[in-house]
Amino acid sequence: MVLEKPKTPLILRDVSDPQPAAGQLLVRVKACAVCRTDLHIVDGELTEPKLPLVLGHQIVGRIEQLSENVTGFSIGDRVGVPWLGWTDGTCPYCRSSRENLCDRAKFTGYNIDGGYAEFTVADARYCFHLPNAYNDVDVAPLLCAGMLGYRSYRKTGDAKRLGIYGFGNAAHLITQIALYEKKEIYAFTRPGDKAGQKDAHSLGAVWAGGSDEMPPEKLDAAIIFASVGPLVPAALRALAKGGVVVCGGIHMSDIPSFPYVDLWNERVITSVANLTRRDGEEFLKIALRVPVKTKVEIFQFEEANTALDRFRAGKLAATAVLKIS
Ligand SMILES: [Zn+2]
Ligand SMILES: [Zn+2]
Repeated sequence: MVLEKPKTPLILRDVSDPQPAAGQLLVRVKACAVCRTDLHIVDGELTEPKLPLVLGHQIVGRIEQLSENVTGFSIGDRVGVPWLGWTDGTCPYCRSSRENLCDRAKFTGYNIDGGYAEFTVADARYCFHLPNAYNDVDVAPLLCAGMLGYRSYRKTGDAKRLGIYGFGNAAHLITQIALYEKKEIYAFTRPGDKAGQKDAHSLGAVWAGGSDEMPPEKLDAAIIFASVGPLVPAALRALAKGGVVVCGGIHMSDIPSFPYVDLWNERVITSVANLTRRDGEEFLKIALRVPVKTKVEIFQFEEANTALDRFRAGKLAATAVLKIS
């Protein structure tokens, strides 16, 4: 499925199989989860995709072919391909363990063709072995919603009372880890979304309400997974002194102005960009230990546009996963 230009549907097309360059794997794709970032790319909110582009950065597949210089993988291995597809290894960020901020980073399904396809190639150094306890479809959402959600969660440090704004795929996964680590979860949904609040309660949140409500206790930290700028000052007002607001998305609408007093007392606003390979490894280990359960809605490969449309309309009850080959 190919994106020719933003704001148009993906087109099903026969393309020649990609050839792995040195250091790359040729992967036969089994499943690829759909991420909100895919929507931001299709809708033109992320403005610099390669075009035409094969979307998809939560790829699960089997290794079909190895090129030279690949270590740690064998033909037939199951492999996970995440958003971070390549870094230069030489810039100041890479050299200070912040490859997620690499000046020349390339991202799967954005600057590099991704997994809405039968085959893809990927730099082996950025791929993950996946735990056998998960099947191909269930493990796919861990590769972005899980890994980037986990990086956001780690930014909240030892916060005990944790608010989550936007209770979707990432929140669902991170809540399970937070509860495992004995945190209290305060879930904020769209105002009036009683079903979402019920879902958060059933997952173990101590409180669930609309994003226009204040929690019963001040929060030590809040993560915002929704791409809605006005949630930033709202979350800030719900924080205790010294608390942090972590913006976990790649794109957000503008943040309205707010009085300095809401930031005063060492409150912090920060964002999370991309992931490091270490985040991914750490997350997969803890996900297996909890164990984190994913909730998926399966679509056939050819139904990618339907999956994206339903995501955009807020009509998905779980993470959409495309089943391929
Ligand atoms: Zn993603
Ligand atoms: Zn770099």
